[in-house]
Amino acid sequence: MNEDFKELRERMQDIKQLWMQVKELEDENDKLRFILAKGEGECVYCGLPKKDMARCIYGFPGCGRADDLQNGETTAAHAAERKPK
Ligand SMILES: [Zn+2]
Repeated sequence: MNEDFKELRERMQDIKQLWMQVKELEDENDKLRFILAKGEGECVYCGLPKKDMARCIYGFPGCGRADDLQNGETTAAHAAERKPK
């Protein structure tokens, strides 16, 4: 019984670790998508350059680029809040 409990605790630690790694990768992914969305390059979703963003066939907002921009700004704002002063 005690061994089962110990193993369960270890499994829970593993899950927690993996969950934290997923979170880290999600944050990194958001950051990279934000950088791409902010860049002058073509949209990775619709192919339009930044200056034509408003003409996206998915609409604006609506294109994934808009979502990435908005998401990145929210993430950046949260990161700034968390920064020690
Ligand atoms: Zn687009």
